[in-house]
Amino acid sequence: MNYDRTKFKVYSSKHPFMLHWITNPGLAFNELVLGQRIPKVILIERNSTKSLAEKTFIPCPHCGTVHPGIKWSKQNNTALRNWFGLYCDNCGNIIPCLTNLTSYILLGLTFPIWYWFKDKWKSKWLENQKVKFSKPLNLEVPEFKWWLFGLLWGLFMYVFMTAFMALVIQLIDGEWISQRIILIGIPVWTVAGFAVGLMAKILNGKKQVKTVAQ
Ligand SMILES: [Zn+2]
Repeated sequence: MNYDRTKFKVYSSKHPFMLHWITNPGLAFNELVLGQRIPKVILIERNSTKSLAEKTFIPCPHCGTVHPGIKWSKQNNTALRNWFGLYCDNCGNIIPCLTNLTSYILLGLTFPIWYWFKDKWKSKWLENQKVKFSKPLNLEVPEFKWWLFGLLWGLFMYVFMTAFMALVIQLIDGEWISQRIILIGIPVWTVAGFAVGLMAKILNGKKQVKTVAQ
């Protein structure tokens, strides 16, 4: 398929984001268990006034429809369980997706088990997709809660760093971490969390433009 490169940046399997998806072994869990899939081609609209979620489009190679990426999202209950790929609600075909290397190996090793069930599973899965996509989809981009993102990041870092420091102090001084160090981490990581949240808000997009569901 040819894409309008003046309008879109094209992410193919050679893009660093895509390469990361293929090579990171941890993502095999997302793929095989959760059914989170990344299409082989992603289009990012060249429009600086929109947030990343609004600029992301997924083309269907079968019918040529350029779908808003938000179609496959938590709010539409379509972000996960996409084991066979992304369902195109225009032509009913499956938009091809990347396969993580670790998933590939695991699928290869377990091939004799799932091979006998795959056709049955696939037709059942396709039926489910038809039902899911027959309902009206919410294509409005949810507001990015930067403060919540920042606070969760801060909490994770606080727990991780406190445990790390406790281990270091125990190994070097043979003592337990002091209450003072534990307490001082709370304001430090709260402030750091807000800073990271703000940064993510800036990176995520200039402003949130509301789009109307089509
Ligand atoms: Zn299609």
